[in-house]
Amino acid sequence: MNDMPDVFRFAPSPNGELHLGHAFSALVNHRLAREAGATFLLRIEDIDRARCTPAFERQIEQDLFFLGVDWDDAPRRQSEHFADYAAALEALADEELIYPGFMSRGDIRGFADRHESEEGTPWPVDPDGAPVYPGLDRQLSTKERERKMSNGERFAWRLDMEKAIERVPALAWQESGQSPAGDSGEIVARPLEWGDVVLARLDTPTSYHLAVVVDDALQGVTDVVRGRDLFHATSVHRLLQALLGLPAPRYHHHGLILGPDGRKLSKSLRDTSIRSLREAGLAAEDIRRMVGLAGRSAPESFSRARSARG
Ligand code: GLU
Repeated sequence: MNDMPDVFRFAPSPNGELHLGHAFSALVNHRLAREAGATFLLRIEDIDRARCTPAFERQIEQDLFFLGVDWDDAPRRQSEHFADYAAALEALADEELIYPGFMSRGDIRGFADRHESEEGTPWPVDPDGAPVYPGLDRQLSTKERERKMSNGERFAWRLDMEKAIERVPALAWQESGQSPAGDSGEIVARPLEWGDVVLARLDTPTSYHLAVVVDDALQGVTDVVRGRDLFHATSVHRLLQALLGLPAPRYHHHGLILGPDGRKLSKSLRDTSIRSLREAGLAAEDIRRMVGLAGRSAPESFSRARSARG
């Protein structure tokens, strides 16, 4: 028996103001953590140096404080730990699992369009709806790669997905929330659907996927609670964990708070920002009620999953 407390984390990106969707996520996460007697951490996911600002970070802390969400230990700021992600990338490079991909988003789109008009069949898209990377430059010789790199051609480090999958056994994770299709319990990971994902770029030396798995492991996270929009990304996270020899947390993907148009809230929708609601005189309890969390109990499925584990 291990009597260390479980560890949960809330991991916002300070690239805009928190809205009702983030409030819901933070409140569910915090409540589940406290009910489990777990440690609750705040992680600031600010790898995108162009869009994240210290002012948004301060605002996040004020909004959480207002909502009654407290955290243990100092927040971990990803921008201060690029060396950790570089070390993970290096480990994958040593295994020859990454390669420089020189096609830009526009090149990929153009390739997919050409394929569709010439072949008459759709080019595959990833679970977020973006065309899968064609991977033509996977075959470039070392000499050709070096020539392009020294010519200053822009590239992103991509995971060679097929090769990576061959290196690990079939992967799954324990889901106490739900997939978009309503599945829970043991979920089989399907990273192949994502194709050769980006793990680092020249201007952002890590991707979300890489930073999140490295940090969850370094911080001893046992339970990842986050929105269902990240459900499919978990397949990539499980693969990276297996390749890097990192433990797998349990996952709980919760439902999303949708706007009146039925779409996911966005940080540009000012009217649902916590700051504007707070300035309009609403109390934390009003916000809890607005997101359907006025009661005390944890979501059913989560309580059941936890008690099943003892
Ligand atoms: N930083 C991500 C976001 O703000 C959340 C990442 C996670 O919880 O894994 O959407």
